[in-house]
Amino acid sequence: MKYPQFILLLLVTSFSITGCSIAQDKQSPGGLSNSDIDWSSELTPEQYRVLRQCGTEPPFTGKFWDHHELGVYQCAGCGAPLFSSADKYQSGSGWPSFFDALDSSNIKTKIDKAHGMVRTELVCQSCGGHLGHLFNDGPAPHGLRYCINSVSLQFQKDTVSLD
Ligand code: FE
Repeated sequence: MKYPQFILLLLVTSFSITGCSIAQDKQSPGGLSNSDIDWSSELTPEQYRVLRQCGTEPPFTGKFWDHHELGVYQCAGCGAPLFSSADKYQSGSGWPSFFDALDSSNIKTKIDKAHGMVRTELVCQSCGGHLGHLFNDGPAPHGLRYCINSVSLQFQKDTVSLD
């Protein structure tokens, strides 16, 4: 193999094993493309680190891992509805855990090979924000655990009147 070809192979390989990445080509609900949005001014520094730079919040620190109100968890980046409190359970992991998505078409999965592991990354379909990872150690019957960073979520409490 000639030297330039070897360099090219190295580049291709390094891109293919790169971990989570942020889609830049999706339209936000407001009609702006992600490349038009200054996410650093839209998000808190911690939201930016997790949602736009694929970070992870420390376990047992987020505001939703032990949160039990009834309602819908939305993407903190764009407001897309992602999870229902009815599908939330205590996994013991220290991160908000759900055994199902509210609408699977709102969440995109990607293979994440970062940190020497092969994991399924969960990304907001709408804004491309990093949410967390999907594992297959959830409760029956689904057997799935959507392991989500609290900081990637905002909560919309149920407003159904009991009158
Ligand atoms: Fe989003």
